[in-house]
Amino acid sequence: MSAPSFLSLLSSAQHIIITCHRGPDGDAIGSTTALASWIRRRYPASVHVIAPNIFPDFLKWVPGAEDILIYDKHEAEVRPIVEQADLVIMCDHGELRRMWTLGDVIRPLLPVGGGQPGAVRCIMIDHHLDPEPDIADLVISHPELSSTCEVLLRLLLEIDPPRGSLTHNEAVSLYTGMMTDTGAFTYASNRPEIYQLISILLSYGIDKDKIYRNIFFTYSQNRMKFMGYMLYVKLNVWKKAHTTIMTLTNAERRRFGILNGDTEGLVNMPLQILGTKLSIFLREDTENPCIRFSLRSVDDFPCNEMAAEFFNGGGHKNAAGGEFWGSMDDALELTKRAVQKYLPLLKE
Ligand code: 5GP
Ligand code: MN
Repeated sequence: MSAPSFLSLLSSAQHIIITCHRGPDGDAIGSTTALASWIRRRYPASVHVIAPNIFPDFLKWVPGAEDILIYDKHEAEVRPIVEQADLVIMCDHGELRRMWTLGDVIRPLLPVGGGQPGAVRCIMIDHHLDPEPDIADLVISHPELSSTCEVLLRLLLEIDPPRGSLTHNEAVSLYTGMMTDTGAFTYASNRPEIYQLISILLSYGIDKDKIYRNIFFTYSQNRMKFMGYMLYVKLNVWKKAHTTIMTLTNAERRRFGILNGDTEGLVNMPLQILGTKLSIFLREDTENPCIRFSLRSVDDFPCNEMAAEFFNGGGHKNAAGGEFWGSMDDALELTKRAVQKYLPLLKE
């Protein structure tokens, strides 16, 4: 990987910020908290983790999550920290635009946005396809790996072989990201090395069963009943296309008392119907007048290509997302066109 350049950029930094994408998930929270803790133990620089917006409650227990600054909630306090940074480390995203307004503040600091060359350096640690060119001094991008936490763990192992000199808490954070980005090792996890990496993390005494429960067994009564409603009332099966569609409005969120993060995992469930190849979930955004898309598939169906072509988004082959600025009805029409276009692949 790129250990020497990584270490040299860290040595010359005084004020480091570590960022993740909007709508942080387990991989975003796991990689940023593990990296912040690791850097703080070795370097005198100040280190802040900054998320563009809030993250779900089921990630609050992750070690270090309590120190994460939320940009859109505390803009006045966080902005000076961003503007003071001389090193930005982007974790789990390869494009500045995935940070929304936080990305708008960071861009002009970098040479690509007109900033003085060399004044603010940037490292990208990620596993998404097509990293934005020219933003980072060092790009550590591995789309073939399960998660950003796996990319980071491999880097730390290269720096300190054979076990990476981690703390127990850093091992917990890294395991959390690898587990959540693979649906608890049910997809994107066929490479044998991933199990060697898990074995190293287990050697730090982490309780993987408890981490699983902390993430997945956290339903409120409301959430469980809401899931039932979505599956019983809102699930549409387009049989010929082996595709399922679910939609969620903000009125329904209010009706069921649905909190941020309560829709997590819902899009995966219809894939359990025998023969289903693609599951699409459309939901009204809670903060902006747009519709958020989540796509999940099995085997070779390319969710990321459909998301990029129709939903202004992207992601991975089996898990992608995007957005549509318009009404739910128009978003559904767009979805129909997308499925129609991909029908030959879906019908097989
Ligand atoms: P989710 O459905 O959980 O929101 O997103 C699944 C995956 O799709 C994410 O891990 C991310 O890789 C990708 N993704 C989601 N939304 C977007 C988007 O707006 N743009 C891009 N490029 N990728 C997205
Ligand atoms: Mn990820």
